[in-house]
Amino acid sequence: MFLHMFTNVSLKAQITWLSASLIFITTLVLTTNYWLKTASFFEQQLQQQMHFAQNVLKQNLKQKEQVLSTSASVLAADFGFKQAVATQDTNTIQSVLLNHSRRIDADLMVLTDINGQFIASSDSARYSSIKTKSYFSEFLLNKIQAKIVAIENNVYQVIVVPVKAPRTIGYAIIGFQFDQQALIKLKELLSLDITFVKQGQVIRSSLDNETLNRESINIIDKKNDDVSLLFSFGLYFHQSLAIVSSDDIKVVLSASLKTLHNDFKQLMLATILAALIVLFIAISSSRLMSNRVTNPLQNLMALTRDISSGNFNVPKIKHNFPIELNKLYQSFGVMGKAIEQRENQITYQAERDLLTGLFNRHKILTEVQSLLSINTNIALINFNVKSFKALNDTFGINNGDSILQEIANRLNSLKNKFEPESTVLSSRTHADDFLVAISIESISQLTGIIELLRSALEHPYLLDEITLKVPLYYGIANSIEHGQDAEKLIRRATMTASNAVKTRHTFLYYQDGEDEAYLYKLNLIEELKQALEQESSPLFLNYQPKLNLKTGSIDKSEALIRWINKQGEFVNPELFVALAEQSGLIVSLTHWVINEVAKQINLWNQLGYRFSVSINLSAQDIQHQDFVNYLVDTVAKHNVQPAQVILELTERDIADNETLILSKLNHLKTLGFEVSVDDYGIGQSSLAKLKNLPVDELKIDKCFILTLDKSQQDQDIVSSTIELGHKLGLRVIAEGVENQASLALLKQFGCDYIQGYHISRPLKADQLIQWYNTYVSTN
Ligand code: C2E
Ligand code: CA
Ligand code: CA
Repeated sequence: MFLHMFTNVSLKAQITWLSASLIFITTLVLTTNYWLKTASFFEQQLQQQMHFAQNVLKQNLKQKEQVLSTSASVLAADFGFKQAVATQDTNTIQSVLLNHSRRIDADLMVLTDINGQFIASSDSARYSSIKTKSYFSEFLLNKIQAKIVAIENNVYQVIVVPVKAPRTIGYAIIGFQFDQQALIKLKELLSLDITFVKQGQVIRSSLDNETLNRESINIIDKKNDDVSLLFSFGLYFHQSLAIVSSDDIKVVLSASLKTLHNDFKQLMLATILAALIVLFIAISSSRLMSNRVTNPLQNLMALTRDISSGNFNVPKIKHNFPIELNKLYQSFGVMGKAIEQRENQITYQAERDLLTGLFNRHKILTEVQSLLSINTNIALINFNVKSFKALNDTFGINNGDSILQEIANRLNSLKNKFEPESTVLSSRTHADDFLVAISIESISQLTGIIELLRSALEHPYLLDEITLKVPLYYGIANSIEHGQDAEKLIRRATMTASNAVKTRHTFLYYQDGEDEAYLYKLNLIEELKQALEQESSPLFLNYQPKLNLKTGSIDKSEALIRWINKQGEFVNPELFVALAEQSGLIVSLTHWVINEVAKQINLWNQLGYRFSVSINLSAQDIQHQDFVNYLVDTVAKHNVQPAQVILELTERDIADNETLILSKLNHLKTLGFEVSVDDYGIGQSSLAKLKNLPVDELKIDKCFILTLDKSQQDQDIVSSTIELGHKLGLRVIAEGVENQASLALLKQFGCDYIQGYHISRPLKADQLIQWYNTYVSTN
């Protein structure tokens, strides 16, 4: 939690705060400690002062008592005085008492009889009224000689002496008053203020009135003598003193704490000042310190920024760094170098074909782009090794690789054969596919360039002491005629090379329009793929009825796929079926057809229409491992008997992988499906093969039927094919019947079924039912 508070604060501020607070705490502890010590010392001093004062006070009282006692004894022994007392000569007694009190400076001088009754005093005006008995009777009784008493708010130290003649005839009482002057004297002597308290009342004090008013409560209530100055905010410290010679009078000594408070104030001021100075020094020095750390860190940060933006040059350190940071800085430098090396390595790998060291497809594209962007015209030559796969299979992959590497070597040395200012870039774009870009000024250079290239590449290759001719196919495009778009240009050269392979031309120049057709096909494939995955598909089926010539009824039809693409155009089924075959989409396309057909047959069955339906298959379909299962499961799912499904395959498809396909066809036949040989007559299958084919039907290609009525030759071929089919136990059907004359001829030849525009064009399922209903009623 505490640490989290610091996560958003800079290192500099953290260091400053840390040292400042450490210093603050230290100052606080030291000051408190000092203050504690000072306070306790002061306390001790105070205690000592109090103790000393007590002693002095006691001493002082004792001395006075001595004076009083001597004086009283002298008085009591005075003969004249004794005589006056005995004769009760009040005037004489009074004058003797007055003289005597003057001599010793006593404030009180009284004579009583033995019962304590007042007889005379030195100052009769003042003391005659004193009820001596009440003040002194106890005194007399207990024979206490000296005592401190309070008489009418005056405090006295008194002594009582018996007057003997020789028996006691009275008592002489002599005393000193503690008046203000006496208290001041005592205060000077003790260095403490002194206060007399009687029964919770201050009777006399050396303190001035103002202080006394403020402090009287503390003075009166002072119960114990504990000193705790540390927490005392009072101005005085009071300590009460029991005087032995008095029962009800307390003496309270008061020490002023003013000096202590002043000392404390000064200490506080000094401490705060010192703390501020130290704090200031601490903050500035820790700032300096933290700068020593954060400046290098900022340098390091700048360095990492440089490295991350690809600048791996680590400059020399400008400032004096602490050793650790210096080492860190150097490690960053080492790291930068390592990253640079790795980056170079990665860049090399990202741009190169690892086998040959030539550029890869991506790199040549960017290179061509940058050449075109500075208006350099280029010739792009894509070439491909003829039957490289076979070459690999025959001589082994290592030898195959050696050939590719040798091609790369020859391409690398090609540059020397061109003008030094021309650019020659070579890349391997795919297994046995190379792309060369050469800068040109005009189209007329092309022939020369091809010749140079061919002479470099086509002389024999040496493989483990075998010399091997490696034929190549070239596709050539150029930026002068075929546009400035690098990607398009490369595609055009590549496409031309694959056309060269397909058409077995050693080299082909790109022709305008080829690219568009190629792109159109590519787009179609992509769109078809989506169409097959879509829930509501833009694909649908048409059904073309087949007429049974023997019964005159319609009991079969052929499912033909249709597609209206995104642009709303009808796409030729022959085109997109061929594209589906080339791209491998045919398997899912056929799955789609099988499912639709099974669904349709089931629907028709339920409506009471029984048609067998032909489905067109490709060689890839039947060879696919899932095909038979899918077919069987799908028809079963839709409650359709296999006998209602006819599978149409061309002779060419059967020839594709004859053994496998024949075994599959046998299997399908045992499952109850019918098989038909489509487009019969245009392939090259021998009669011997036909004999062993596990099929039910021959479908004579429409090229023999379309103009049957006009061609004697077609009629001969068709009639003999029908005869042959029948001899092999097959049903024969003719497609492409466009007129009544052909129909009549076929009937005459004994053909079993016919299909063609003359009967009906392919129709949507519901249209077929409408057509069928009217057809049945008119025939
Ligand atoms: P195909 O299997 O030979 O189909 C017969 C073609 O002949 C159909 O062309 C049909 O419309 C056409 N045709 C029928 N009667 C006549 C006629 O009297 N005169 C003329 N001139 N033509 C007639 P379509 O529908 O254009 O199909 C072309 C080809 O596309 C089909 O030839 C077939 O090979 C392929 N195809 C169509 N649908 C599918 C399918 O679902 N799967 C596969 N694999 N191929 C299909
Ligand atoms: Ca067909
Ligand atoms: Ca056909």
